Amino acid sequence: MLLKQALLIENLKKSFGNNEALKGISLSVEPNEIFALIGPNGAGKTTALRIVAALLTPSGGRVEVFGNNVRERPDRVREIISYLPEEAGAYKNLTGNGYLRFMGELFATQRRELDDFLQRARDICGLGDRLNDKIGTYSKGMVRKLLLARALMTRPRLAILDEPTSGLDVINALEVRNLIKGFAREGMSVFLSSHNMLEIEYLSDRVGIIHQGIIYDMGTPEELKGKYGSSNLEEVFAEVAR
Ligand code: ATP
Repeated sequence: MLLKQALLIENLKKSFGNNEALKGISLSVEPNEIFALIGPNGAGKTTALRIVAALLTPSGGRVEVFGNNVRERPDRVREIISYLPEEAGAYKNLTGNGYLRFMGELFATQRRELDDFLQRARDICGLGDRLNDKIGTYSKGMVRKLLLARALMTRPRLAILDEPTSGLDVINALEVRNLIKGFAREGMSVFLSSHNMLEIEYLSDRVGIIHQGIIYDMGTPEELKGKYGSSNLEEVFAEVAR
């Protein structure tokens, strides 16, 4: 049997009033693949991620997650994805543990599954005893790791991560990148956006460069560097976005 693509996007369009945020983008993400969208501010990255996460309705085109159309089966899509928003907050009056339990209970079907989720979340966030403290007392980086743990604890088939390491220091960012890579090796597919070219180069199997709602180029980091005669992705990006 042919394995279904983790994500299929065909001619995806999204307008906000007269503003065409996405002008017909197409791409696919294979099972186990880490695919990154890079592009300048306002390029349409978050819009694309939010549509895949079944949070925004497309104006046109087709989006399927493991063969499930996001318009026709949004509930099924929500069951198999996790979405980490760029500007996410968590309930400040809950403790880290309380938050993870609250979120875990929404997804777990049995007690044992919930325990698995919580154990995995604790391992991912590495916050230790601080999980007993209220989230309002956490640093920005701690909140980010808690949210990432929430997103990955359910072992989604497709993780949609908007700027996963935003606000993290070098060491924590590195840890998070390794975590994402590890999860992908174990079978998770990832669709992410980032402004950090080093991160993209380190993490992604393939990259799509988006600018003004259009995908200008796509390929492995090596392919793109070769094509533009650049030593790093930052130069490729600057060339394409010019
Ligand atoms: P950044 O790197 O700054 O996060 P981005 O590539 O994620 O940018 P989007 O947030 O997808 O860009 O925005 C793409 C375009 O769509 C922008 O022109 C933005 O103003 C517009 N847009 C996004 N969300 C909305 C909304 N809810 N209502 C109206 N316009 C929106």
